[in-house]
Amino acid sequence: MSGILRLDGLRKSFGSNEVLRGIDLTVQQGERIAILGASGSGKSTLLRCINFMEVPSAGTVTVAGTPVGEEARGGRCYRPAELARLRTRIGMIFQQFNLFPHMTALQNVAEGPLSVLGVGRAEAEARARQHLAKVGLAEKAEAYPARLSGGQQQRVAIARALAMEPEMLLFDEPTSALDPELVGEVLETILGLSREGRTMLLVTHELGFAFHFATRVIFLHEGMIHEEGTPEQVLKHPRQDRTRAFIGRHS
Ligand code: ADP
Ligand code: MG
Repeated sequence: MSGILRLDGLRKSFGSNEVLRGIDLTVQQGERIAILGASGSGKSTLLRCINFMEVPSAGTVTVAGTPVGEEARGGRCYRPAELARLRTRIGMIFQQFNLFPHMTALQNVAEGPLSVLGVGRAEAEARARQHLAKVGLAEKAEAYPARLSGGQQQRVAIARALAMEPEMLLFDEPTSALDPELVGEVLETILGLSREGRTMLLVTHELGFAFHFATRVIFLHEGMIHEEGTPEQVLKHPRQDRTRAFIGRHS
């Protein structure tokens, strides 16, 4: 099975700092992968390489069977237009919600389809309302981000990602910037999406959530997959000392 996403020997360095040191991973359609690891282990860099916000130093990213970029002497070469197109197929949700402050929730959600996908305004806004309803914010369509709680803003960000009809969703610590009382509503929203069979990769320190959410858990250490398995195996019966210590610190 080739998978919806495949990483082969993925490496990324910043100067002499080798952050990803050979990641091999195949993700099947509908899989939900929780990515754990200490701060600095390369989790964000891994997600950013998957949607090419960072260009890998070596290795291949294959999306739906098609390798990204062309093989060239000394590595792969990437065309900007190809990367831009790829990014529209992979939704990303960040710790900071990054909403456009001068646009309403509805405008934020409709913007991508309008300006990138070329959907007409009426259609884009109608779909945006559906996506806002899906994250429980139908009644906040006309609100500006400053008038929304952090949890609501993050749900708008999720709706905005959904509006692009992406093949997979990447979440980078989506609840880390939230007050504790707002974490639950965002995790509930993400769980709701998981029931639709969406393909999702999620970086989180919420181990209890990872257990319920994930079909597979990956523990990253110094830019390599140190341990992976079912949530039951990795979170309840870790094989590696480092994984066990990490889980001990975050439980
Ligand atoms: P994590 O998300 O697991 O905390 P990151 O992927 O953010 O880890 O970072 C891993 C390492 O890569 C860190 O040492 C960080 O300083 C470095 N790094 C990440 N992004 C950049 C960048 N754009 N330029 C230089 N170094 C970076
Ligand atoms: Mg990070």
